Amino acid sequence: MSVVTLLLVNMLLHLTAGVCLFVAGRSLRAGAALSLWGLSNLVYAAGFIILLQRFPRSLDAYISLGGNLLIDLGAAIAFLSLHQFLSGSRRDLWPLLPAGLLSLAKIAITLALEYNLSLNVVLGCLSRALLAAMGSWLLLRRAEPWLRPASWTVAGFQLLWVLLLLIRGGWEFAWMLEPDAAMMGLLRDPTSAISLLLRSAITFIMTVGFLWMMGRRLEATLVRQATEDPLTGVANRRALWEKAERLVGRAVPRGAPLAVLMVDIDHFKSVNDRWGHGMGDRLLKAVARTLADGVRADDMVARVGGEEFAVLLPDADAAMAAAVAERVRAAVALLQVEGDDGALSCTVSIGHASLAPGLSWEGLVKAADEALYRAKRGGRNRVEAAAAPVA
Ligand code: GH3
Ligand code: MG
Ligand code: MG
Repeated sequence: MSVVTLLLVNMLLHLTAGVCLFVAGRSLRAGAALSLWGLSNLVYAAGFIILLQRFPRSLDAYISLGGNLLIDLGAAIAFLSLHQFLSGSRRDLWPLLPAGLLSLAKIAITLALEYNLSLNVVLGCLSRALLAAMGSWLLLRRAEPWLRPASWTVAGFQLLWVLLLLIRGGWEFAWMLEPDAAMMGLLRDPTSAISLLLRSAITFIMTVGFLWMMGRRLEATLVRQATEDPLTGVANRRALWEKAERLVGRAVPRGAPLAVLMVDIDHFKSVNDRWGHGMGDRLLKAVARTLADGVRADDMVARVGGEEFAVLLPDADAAMAAAVAERVRAAVALLQVEGDDGALSCTVSIGHASLAPGLSWEGLVKAADEALYRAKRGGRNRVEAAAAPVA
């Protein structure tokens, strides 16, 4: 395939990917990074359209430079898109500076001396390789774990692209130093066609990869929203019920222990009345954090009502549940939330129940609720164990 055909193929690929991704990104609420990715493709496409102008006419310095700079800009926008997608810090933006300086160097050299295609290619490859390498660094370092394996795949292809750019730049550089190479039968620019061919493949893969990452993130957000309590960040009732029913189903036949604590903040209504709803919310968050900090990683804390929490303790018998309950009760009693009018504190009442033969998860919760009711009636800020198991 001729270089013109390859330029045309690349231009069309970037143009279609650019239009689709830009429109898709604009239509999504969290689509800014996708729009930028689309925009970078559109800028690449514009660069290729300009580069196509130099065929079949003889090389026009400024047309070539313009096309080249647009492709540099496309690479910078692609990097910005990854940075935005991964919520990189301001400091992560540093590669834009050397990449910008390399582009400026091209302009300066063309204006001051004359257009030098080889030098343009070498500098362009350097700046694009830097941006792509730092893009993959961002993907490897900043991507959330649930973006894998999509983020690793995209990073891998970005690194492959870096390698190709370095080979292409290196070849051109060697040719620059040794202009007589043509005499020796070496091809002037075999890497140009190869890199254009691979570029079209990589454009396609990166487009799919970016959409794959968007899909992974969307899925993770949906799962989080479906299973997490938005105020406190602990699990919600639904997530607890699902896990508990699964664990109870497994523990009952094995006769394995399992316990649940029902935790209710004492006189929370008066906290809201006296300190305002905002302080009430802050107290709820602090209590949730105290509960989560007070149990093991395998245990699960969930907000199951307005000011009511449940703690699922797999592998805990009644004695262990009583100990955990007493520990978290004491920890909450020491809690202080600083407000404008001084420090706010609270207490919790806890009822706990442990699994017994014939008891279902619903039965376990009912038993713990009854124990909680007794703790309230008994004066609050106390722990009560469930009475005999209720089948
Ligand atoms: P008790 O000691 O008997 O548990 O008394 P209580 O006041 O804690 O219980 P009650 O059920 O009477 O009141 C619960 C209060 O929790 C009422 C409601 O306004 C408040 N509440 C529920 N959800 C939220 C929330 O998300 N934020 C805030 N700030 N308050 C909430
Ligand atoms: Mg309460
Ligand atoms: Mg309550």
